[in-house]
Amino acid sequence: MAKHNNFYITTTLPYVNAEPHVGFAMEIIRADAIARVKKLQGYTVFFNTGTDEHGQKLYDEATKEGKDVQEYVDFYSEKFKGLKDLLGLSEDIHFIRTTDKHHEQAAQEFWRRCDAHGYIYKKQYHAKYCVGCELEKTDSELVDGKCPIHPRKDIEVIEEENYFFKFSALQEKLLQFYKENPNFVVPDFRFNEIKSFVERGLQDFSISRLKSKMSWGVEVPGDSEHVMYVWFDALVNYISTLGWSENREQFEEFWVNGTPVQYCGKDNLRQQTAMWQAMLMAADLPQTNTVVIDGFATGEGGIKMSKSIGNVINPYDVVNEYGTEALRYFALVEMSAFEDSPFTMERFKDAYNSKLANGIGNLTSRILKMAETHIAEPVEISNESLDDSYFKLYEGYDMTKVGEYIWNEISSMDAFIQETTPFKVIKTDFEKGRDLIKQLVVRLYSVARMLNPILPDTSLKIMNAIKANKMPEASLFVRKD
Ligand SMILES: [Zn+2]
Repeated sequence: MAKHNNFYITTTLPYVNAEPHVGFAMEIIRADAIARVKKLQGYTVFFNTGTDEHGQKLYDEATKEGKDVQEYVDFYSEKFKGLKDLLGLSEDIHFIRTTDKHHEQAAQEFWRRCDAHGYIYKKQYHAKYCVGCELEKTDSELVDGKCPIHPRKDIEVIEEENYFFKFSALQEKLLQFYKENPNFVVPDFRFNEIKSFVERGLQDFSISRLKSKMSWGVEVPGDSEHVMYVWFDALVNYISTLGWSENREQFEEFWVNGTPVQYCGKDNLRQQTAMWQAMLMAADLPQTNTVVIDGFATGEGGIKMSKSIGNVINPYDVVNEYGTEALRYFALVEMSAFEDSPFTMERFKDAYNSKLANGIGNLTSRILKMAETHIAEPVEISNESLDDSYFKLYEGYDMTKVGEYIWNEISSMDAFIQETTPFKVIKTDFEKGRDLIKQLVVRLYSVARMLNPILPDTSLKIMNAIKANKMPEASLFVRKD
């Protein structure tokens, strides 16, 4: 048995101003599935998400709309909280906002520690900056003088005296850490990517802005003319959410003595696996245990989703038409865990009909109809814990493997019904027919339990139907034409 029974997992914090997009929906659904499976294993889980609410982009957009910045972020932050219902996330998920007072204090304390350890200095800053990314850009990263991700935004030239973080001083320490922790980044090919980035040498980066030019940020401790660079402040959320630095106990339980896991998209590789880790080193705090890097959801043929092509998928539309559980299924089981993969409504509908409506939905109706008709009492179910082999499937964070395992069992149960025809046998040999049906109910219950992290609501409906020995009131998944 594990020495510590606490488990911490977090997503990244998206900027609050955009509508939640399907890529972030995938990230948070995946983290939620891991949080749920850890609970099944008996862990106490701390699951974190939230919103990144500082920085120039938000400041500019609020100002453009003539709104007070705080009111603006309050409004959008509420929208993000709606993701919990939309995506069927764990009830006890923690939601941090980087404008929370205790977070701002934590960011300042974090700064003080990095400063005290000699990792912060001041110098003249001259850089090209994309406000869309909130990142500095080198000439080689620009296309025709524009950020390729934000071609409609002008690159800003920043020329001011700023505070810098001594990223370069931590190159060797980072490489040593990567070497000693061969599973730190999942999957391997992303780990190799960051290793070669760090091996090429690190540039110190600016971690403040002049307040007179951009005021929407956390004030730098001891210098009221500067606010912190948005990434420096936001990354600290992963520990401020635990109450760091005041709540020492919770931080020890989940971070220091736990195995903290961070989920993020591939566009966050550098920030999560190098910048944030170097910041933790500078503050003399323990590293993240594992960073899991998602691929992107694309349009058909790997084309980037964009409004002009009209291939953008809105998670709200998907849920309106197919329901939360179907979106979870598709994000976890049908989309590649680590590679970019296409999310189109055509693929979605096919998977929905074959795996949900005709798969688990149909199987549940068939078995429970036979049970309800031919068996007087609910079938007795054992409460043994799930197999170790099932939990092992989650170890590589590839939920498509879990899906394969469960849907193989579903197909094999379909085949079993086909071969043994309990609905016929029961008419000529009651005992034998009833035994076959009981076997199927027991297997269905086990499938329902295994489905919990992926389809929590469906899992519960099936288990309740079995306990009541009644078909579910309505089809679990109505076929779509
Ligand atoms: Zn950009």
